[in-house]
Amino acid sequence: MNHPAAAFATQKRALPEAFVAALTACFGERFSMAGAICDAHGKDESMLDPMPPDGVVFAETTEDVQTAMLLCQQYRVPIIAYGTGSSLEGHLLALDGGISLDVSRMTRILAIHAEDLTATVEAGVTREALNAALKDTGLFFPIDPGADASLGGMSATRASGTNAVRYGTMRENVLSLKVVTADGKIVRTARRARKSSAGYDLTRIFVGSEGTLGIITEVTVRLYPQPEAISAAICNFDTTEAAVACVIQTIQLGIPVARVEFLDAACVRALNAHSHMDLRETPLLLFEFHGTPASVAEQAAQVQEIARDHGGQDFSWATAKEDRTRLWKARHKAYFAGLQMKPGTRALTTDVCVPISALAESITTTSAELRASKLPSMIVGHVGDGNYHVMLLVDPNVPADYEEAESINRRLVSRAIQMDGTCTGEHGVGLHKMQFLLEEHGEDALDLMRQLKNAFDPNNILNPGKIFPAASSA
Ligand SMILES: Cc1cc2nc3c(=O)[nH]c(=O)nc-3n(C[C@H](O)[C@H](O)[C@H](O)COP(=O)(O)OP(=O)(O)OC[C@H]3O[C@@H](n4cnc5c(N)ncnc54)[C@H](O)[C@@H]3O)c2cc1C
Repeated sequence: MNHPAAAFATQKRALPEAFVAALTACFGERFSMAGAICDAHGKDESMLDPMPPDGVVFAETTEDVQTAMLLCQQYRVPIIAYGTGSSLEGHLLALDGGISLDVSRMTRILAIHAEDLTATVEAGVTREALNAALKDTGLFFPIDPGADASLGGMSATRASGTNAVRYGTMRENVLSLKVVTADGKIVRTARRARKSSAGYDLTRIFVGSEGTLGIITEVTVRLYPQPEAISAAICNFDTTEAAVACVIQTIQLGIPVARVEFLDAACVRALNAHSHMDLRETPLLLFEFHGTPASVAEQAAQVQEIARDHGGQDFSWATAKEDRTRLWKARHKAYFAGLQMKPGTRALTTDVCVPISALAESITTTSAELRASKLPSMIVGHVGDGNYHVMLLVDPNVPADYEEAESINRRLVSRAIQMDGTCTGEHGVGLHKMQFLLEEHGEDALDLMRQLKNAFDPNNILNPGKIFPAASSA
């Protein structure tokens, strides 16, 4: 069964022989055209069918990236950066073939400046590897998409995760990048100072650009002191409305929760089955509090009271590190738990983000739509930011399933945009969310983005056909 990815494909052509010879001469075995390797690089975690590149270059240094870029520019061959392949919206599909530039071997931690609370790493370092390297410093890096993604990929998708309500997203936490531009220049976007007013903010232009403006080879991020005290709590609610009302009041009162995650009853059921938990199968909130022992106790008491006012039940604590870890590990596996709701199906995942005051209406309307559909589904979200995900399972042999899932997605996104929200809070545009950019930004803003793309990549070799349909960016 072909899901629409093929509809985006344009002008795939064979790699020029001289280009293949030049890459082979430069990279030897680190350049491969083997089918299995190309197949592994032409897919992500989305429901879209894979579209493999024609070859893969495994870069080990910024200069490797530069060499590959210059050759791709010379021969006008598409080049698609690859981190860990965990993106969810078809970001990596090689619509026009070309080269996948894999940075996963660029794994050096270049500097940890504990006194400045910053670290500089190569783009292939994953968030877990960075935190492992920080273990004895008393510092940590908080951004945690469910997958163990690369810092380059997380920058490129402007990722966030469960901690964003307290620590922000990659937008707030990337201080500077080293980038290879489409014409092969190596650019550093900013110094290491915690703030700067010196010119256009190039860092933030590349953050979220999904490999369409340049290839990131180094990332400098902010670090945070490990909190002196951490505690987690869970609380059940009879209804989604009550759980969401509790979150909204918590945020509006300015209680600095570190994490607050919403799981609908279907998601709790899936987690119980997948991670052998015994959580009560009703809408559930998971909280985490960071601070001094006194501030953590105070925040938790305030939230417990708010939860009680909204009919929250079984407010229970997980203060032991093992219990907390088990809870959050299970939460991070929600995607895989969800897939098990009906083995043999594929998942359409989507994420929207709305202003916090619109969250209740957004989630409850969506919940009602999901209940009315026969497709297995669940909602899970970083609701403290107004951001939530919907997963819908479709039978790959039943085209009507795809149509129904896509139609629910379209309505969900349209409602979010009408509420002054966005078609994606953290997963990015890739292919699957392209259709909503006009509605969200309007023609003039979109045109400015296209002009930016043209200025950075006039020959459209960088991840072509993503964010904008191919014809518009040429
Ligand atoms: C189970 C699961 C849970 C997830 N949960 C979250 C979540 O909570 N929050 C969230 O934000 N995301 C989440 N994601 C999505 C995903 O993890 C993020 O989008 C992540 O940031 C992608 O990083 P990556 O290294 O896998 O990048 P890839 O998937 O390899 O690439 C993603 C995009 O970035 C570009 N890119 C990659 N590396 C570079 C580079 N060095 N320079 C320029 N461009 C580059 C690629 O060309 C592509 O367009 C989840 C995914 C899964 C599978």
